[in-house]
Amino acid sequence: MKCSYHPGYQMALPGGHPFPIGKFPLLKDRLLAEGVLTPCDILQPDPVDRQTLELVHTADYLNKLESSGLSMAEQRRLGIPWSDSLWLRSRLASGGTLLAARAALDSGLSGNLAGGTHHAFADHGEGFCVLNDVAIAIAQLRIEEAIDRALVIDLDVHQGNGTAAIFENVEEVFTFSMHGERNYPSVKMRSKLDVGLPDRLDDAGYLAALQMHLPMVLAAAKPDIAFYLAGVDVASGDRYGRLSLTEEGIRLRDREVIGTVRGSSIPLVIVLAGGYAETRARTAALHAHAFREAVAYERSRQGRTQVPQRPSTDEGPLDDAENSAARMLRQHAEPNSVIGNPHGDNETECGEIDEQRPNALRSDEE
Ligand SMILES: [Zn+2]
Repeated sequence: MKCSYHPGYQMALPGGHPFPIGKFPLLKDRLLAEGVLTPCDILQPDPVDRQTLELVHTADYLNKLESSGLSMAEQRRLGIPWSDSLWLRSRLASGGTLLAARAALDSGLSGNLAGGTHHAFADHGEGFCVLNDVAIAIAQLRIEEAIDRALVIDLDVHQGNGTAAIFENVEEVFTFSMHGERNYPSVKMRSKLDVGLPDRLDDAGYLAALQMHLPMVLAAAKPDIAFYLAGVDVASGDRYGRLSLTEEGIRLRDREVIGTVRGSSIPLVIVLAGGYAETRARTAALHAHAFREAVAYERSRQGRTQVPQRPSTDEGPLDDAENSAARMLRQHAEPNSVIGNPHGDNETECGEIDEQRPNALRSDEE
């Protein structure tokens, strides 16, 4: 499974800042240590260029970001002070999601070990989100005619308000957000489908809602690619969440999304979105489930073969027969099995990526 990562995803933040910026290298190291990923799986992105950014964001907003022109009020709304490294990391993370999307179109499944900054609107950022990486990737792929239709499955505990607003009038992009109804943002934008959940919803209630809506979403979206925002702030005890999922519930959620999307042979890109557990390590551990489940699913799928390939764009990818096949595959998958190195003998051809590039800044002090 190819995953984008760059040392510049991490940057310095003021001491005590609540954003767990250190989760990015921790997640990468964990996935490599477990053998979920090998060094060969890591794709190192370039920053997204201005022309691509302008497909989504306004010139006025980009001018401010380029020139440290955000007012104090705008920085408060963003929740992060402007800096050169913030501007760079935001473009790198967006580049990572675009790179991962290209990999998913090529191989079916990929991820970005960052991204999911869904509170970024065309003309402003908020909620720790500067640029809307998923929207940028979708817009660029659409303009290249690499895709026509896209689906955003946003399961972060907060509504994907920026993404919803950006694509509100774009019929070809289906935005699905399932979130805590009483969580930020207090004023919700209009996704193609919003499912607001009650406070303290548990695993069973959450999974029932997901299983009820996701197949219908896929059928309505008929996507050429899907982006999964696998935010782990749905976890019980999350600093900014109001739901009560256990770690096992998060694993089952991830498994459900991956099995349903990939069981329909739709290319899938997994991005992180939010997570504010008691420590960065805990947050990274929760994020790891999506990638572990994804690799396990693909391995089980490869073992079974005969799975239909990506459908042509004029066919609905989710007819009943195919849904049945997806369910059957899921029921027979064994995602709990210990994951070895699926790439084995070519591992030594790839070196570890360089953590000491000039733009790799010190970690925050949490
Ligand atoms: Zn969130």
